[in-house]
Amino acid sequence: MTDDAQAPADQHARVVVIGAGQAGLSVGHHLRRLGLTPGSDLVLLDRAPSTGGAWQFRWEALRLGAAHRVHDLPGMNAMGLRFDDADRSRPARDVVGEYYRRFEQHYDLRVRRPVTVTSMTRIGDTGLCVTVRAGDGGTSRIGAEIVVNASGTWGTPFVPWYPGRDVFRGRQLDTTEYRSAAEFAGQDVVVVGGGTSAIGFLLELDAVAARTRWFTRRPMVWSDTAALDLESAVAAVDEQDRAARAGATLPSIVSGTGVPVTRRIRAGLDRGVLRESPMFTRLDETGVVTADGEHVHADAVIWATGFRADLRHLAPLHLRTAAGGIVVEDGRSVGEPRLFLAGYGPQASTIGANRAGRRIARQVMDALAGS
Ligand code: FAD
Repeated sequence: MTDDAQAPADQHARVVVIGAGQAGLSVGHHLRRLGLTPGSDLVLLDRAPSTGGAWQFRWEALRLGAAHRVHDLPGMNAMGLRFDDADRSRPARDVVGEYYRRFEQHYDLRVRRPVTVTSMTRIGDTGLCVTVRAGDGGTSRIGAEIVVNASGTWGTPFVPWYPGRDVFRGRQLDTTEYRSAAEFAGQDVVVVGGGTSAIGFLLELDAVAARTRWFTRRPMVWSDTAALDLESAVAAVDEQDRAARAGATLPSIVSGTGVPVTRRIRAGLDRGVLRESPMFTRLDETGVVTADGEHVHADAVIWATGFRADLRHLAPLHLRTAAGGIVVEDGRSVGEPRLFLAGYGPQASTIGANRAGRRIARQVMDALAGS
């Protein structure tokens, strides 16, 4: 079936990859190695202004390895680059941006940016067509036999609804809007969420805020390993895989693994900065109200409450299930087999994205050979 037969594509490629973060670059690298030519057969698109995927937008104080290990892209070691040797005194956003830039140049991946994929449609039985908006606002359409979506989650932070969110008069922000603790100097700050972002914010705010309070939906589970190797987080990754195969919304990885107690976190626990309270029941004009009726004054509420996969541009394909996700098996959409999803569900870590790159590239080449 043709969704939009009226508008022919302006350009054709064999494969379009949406997103040049860890997942998109890994797929792009393997597809190039398997014989596709970047820039013609293979087109990589990214809406961000610079290299680094979502890392380029992370807050200034975040350093590599603050909680999880960041795995090298495939082919990075051959260039003499290793994240484990990277300068940890510099912001992670700068280091990752620089490493990815060198990677893209070395392998001549020719990523086009800033180019936003705004929608995707089917072209009969032969392929897919992505509509893109370039930095100057101009739109065009690129037809492809296969599309690999590697758009990550940073564009769709998730903030749960609590009564009073619309009446609170202070500042509310999510993880993507957090820049630095200095903005909250002298303020009472409520941080919501049980993941590593919330913990990072609390540790930073401790030095400058008047007071912080931390609220989580579930009691924290601390893991006594000093660093979480997501590769060994088998149960959590399996849970993601089950959700992806069922087309359900994806659970948080950290809820399945516990948070590793690094030295910095240990110090925060000892100082009492990392003492969570059960989730409050509502906000009012000046703060939040707990289940036992305590009013906690807040100048700001930071919602570090996770992300959803950023799949808005796939909406015209109608792949969403009633359960809120899309059905994905081994990185491939079941409802639209010309569409692969890299970095989705069980692949949502740097090691997962690397593996996805290799596996998806092989499947893409098989699909191209059969088409
Ligand atoms: P991204 O890096 O988000 O890349 C997606 C790219 O797609 C972006 O460049 C974006 O511009 C582009 N894009 C999105 N939509 C469109 C569109 N419509 N059109 C064109 N381009 C588009 N994992 C680890 O393994 N180790 C860690 O230490 C770690 N730390 C993390 C810290 C934070 C705060 C968060 C939120 C996550 C962290 N993760 C970590 C998990 C994260 O999944 C990995 O960082 C991984 O790098 C994600 O890679 P990705 O390629 O899937 O997504």
